[in-house]
Amino acid sequence: MSETLSINKILIANRGEIAVRVIRACRDLGIPNVAVYSDADRAALHVRFADEAVHIGPPPVRESYLDIDRIIAAAKKTGADAIHPGYGLLSEREAFAQACADAGIVFIGPPPAAIRTMGDKQAAREAVKKYGVPVVPGTEPGMHDEDIITYAAKHIGFPLIVKAAAGGGGKGMRAVYSLDDLPAALATARREAESAFGDGRVYVEKLLVGARHIEFQILADMHGNTIHLGERECSIQRRHQKLVEEAPSPFMDDELRKRMGDMAIAAAQSVGYVNAGTIECLVDKDRNYYFLEMNTRLQVEHPVTELVTGVDLVKEQIRIARGRRMGPTESVLDPKGWAIECRINAEDPYNGFIPSVGKINTLITPTGPGVRVDHGVYSGYEITPYYDSMIAKLICFGETRSEAMLRMRRALNEYTIMGVKHNIPFHINLLNSFSFIAGQFDTKFVEERFSMTTYESDPSEEEIEHAAIAATLVAHRNQQLAAQVVAPAKRDASNWKWFTRYERMHR
Ligand code: ADP
Repeated sequence: MSETLSINKILIANRGEIAVRVIRACRDLGIPNVAVYSDADRAALHVRFADEAVHIGPPPVRESYLDIDRIIAAAKKTGADAIHPGYGLLSEREAFAQACADAGIVFIGPPPAAIRTMGDKQAAREAVKKYGVPVVPGTEPGMHDEDIITYAAKHIGFPLIVKAAAGGGGKGMRAVYSLDDLPAALATARREAESAFGDGRVYVEKLLVGARHIEFQILADMHGNTIHLGERECSIQRRHQKLVEEAPSPFMDDELRKRMGDMAIAAAQSVGYVNAGTIECLVDKDRNYYFLEMNTRLQVEHPVTELVTGVDLVKEQIRIARGRRMGPTESVLDPKGWAIECRINAEDPYNGFIPSVGKINTLITPTGPGVRVDHGVYSGYEITPYYDSMIAKLICFGETRSEAMLRMRRALNEYTIMGVKHNIPFHINLLNSFSFIAGQFDTKFVEERFSMTTYESDPSEEEIEHAAIAATLVAHRNQQLAAQVVAPAKRDASNWKWFTRYERMHR
């Protein structure tokens, strides 16, 4: 299909770190760019960075960043012929992609129909199932009546998870452990879904215990090429929200990557996907994997993939939107090195992670070998209560997982943010946790087996043994060595020294 389209100026319909990230890609490509901003963001970094900036309304997102008419008008006013939606906000709204098309503006993302199908979790499950993609057992679309859901729930078996069909951001989700609790969970999830998405449809699926969240980065162009760029491990979560991501996954091996990668490509092709997207999966202890959903946009955690593949995903998105062939031609089955990302949130980790607002009066960001910071703040910047609490992403790269972790540890200690509470202490604690170091965790690790007061600095022999098994997998994956490791009877070194020595030993 498709002739090359010209893109002469890009408007970024977003804010914060991702708007800055997209502006940087525009700069690298020599494309003029336009920021939009609300009253609360007059002094924001993305506004300072952009070539031009257009005011689009008051602080509440509904009246500014989610107002399609105002954003299209800003593009027309400045002569922008393409819009990059970033993530969140309007990025997964079919109506926005369609409004861009209707206004003759290139939407840097997938076709509206792909957004529609993948935006409905149940429709997405049905679409991918036809392509042989495994999904978590659950109720079919149209089964919204409480009696039918209850009947199906008995058949699927407990524990279950109630989900909103239109869901996102962990909203409208409820774990249910017995039939007695199902009616109340359905009612709460319906209410939550109705208020968050204006769509109260819910369904149930099997709750997978001890599973990992592993996702695949997809790139597809208009010339029929669809590839994947390997996986990201995103199991370090709190309330279904990711906190730390890495690429590759310590759980992955070459054979599983090949099978899951092929599955991810099939899932994307099931909706005629074009541009960058992500196939999210759950993987159980026995390495069975299940499609969870597709995110039809750039992910927050895209930098870890960029660092281990050398692909600039935002540049590729723009290239694809122009109708060109994408740069990489083959799926990435052998990522180079290891990358870890910590999301830096203005939240108090010692007080229920409640969001913190105020002026950043001192900001020292880490630099040095293997360190990347994507942020939307500066010294003197005022954090307001209107938007997401994520203010930065710290991404570290190393030749091996332990080198990436050691650099992350160094960078976290260099990072100074004063004036607001932030979650850097959480990340430092996590990086001291033996389970994390050994790659032994699932999506419930942070909530169920980690606390801010437990450093896990003195793990039991059993934990060391578990870690050793995990480390064997890491060594096998990273160094292609089926190394056997014997847990030392008594460790004479810190978790760090032990793990690093181990990894070196088995190179
Ligand atoms: P959202 O779109 O709201 O982010 P997802 O379907 O992507 O919701 O799921 C988010 C997280 O919720 C997953 O990463 C996982 O931790 C948890 N989760 C979702 N579905 C299940 C399931 N069937 N079993 C266990 N955990 C699940």
